[in-house]
Amino acid sequence: MRTLVVSDIHSNIVALEAAVADAERAGGVDGVWCLGDVVGYGPEPLACVARLRQLNATVICGNHDAAAVGRLDLAWFNAYAAEACRWTQAQLTPEVHAYLADLPERTVAGPFTLVHGMPREPLTGYLVSIGQAQDAWYETGAAAIMVGHTHVPFVCTEDGGMERPGPGGLRATLGSGHLLLNPGSVGQPRDGDPRAAYAVYDDVTGVVQLHRVWYDIPATQRRMTEVGLPEPLISRLSVGR
Ligand code: ZN
Repeated sequence: MRTLVVSDIHSNIVALEAAVADAERAGGVDGVWCLGDVVGYGPEPLACVARLRQLNATVICGNHDAAAVGRLDLAWFNAYAAEACRWTQAQLTPEVHAYLADLPERTVAGPFTLVHGMPREPLTGYLVSIGQAQDAWYETGAAAIMVGHTHVPFVCTEDGGMERPGPGGLRATLGSGHLLLNPGSVGQPRDGDPRAAYAVYDDVTGVVQLHRVWYDIPATQRRMTEVGLPEPLISRLSVGR
């Protein structure tokens, strides 16, 4: 079974569709896991929630999902993020509001524990070092963990430390050792590569492959301009920062 792993979609439906299509072309998709931040920053929150529900995705809560439904104070956000959050709040239907309000802060899917930030601080912690990955393995007792939140893809293993993917992606194999990875962000990458980031986990081979795919960035930017989202959030998509 091939599972598409996405994170930090941020209301960017064009990027989400590109990731789904790319994974389907490469061998099909049997399931979808989303590591949080379905909404926030981008122009299509309702379409992104609807698509994940259509795909019957396993979804956990990100800080932007939490803030959109009042589970997290906007004091955590910078001015542009807060402005986009208030815009997002105004778009939500009661049904989508209830969906986001019910998202769990962590879950177990296959061999992986899924959490948006880090196990100790599920919504707001930034996991950026091998030391923090070791803490996460120790605290949870879980050998395999997936996180999002930083919008920067990486793989952590006990032997290899923290590795960043090159332009062609990165491959990790679930084995006897510990593994912690971040697939990167679908809808607002911040590692200098503006392409949508995602991963595919194959439970037969135990391989997790980190991928990138181009999407129609100007289409998302035009939509953001139309709905009046802050300009710095629009221009950053071009550079992946
Ligand atoms: Zn995010």
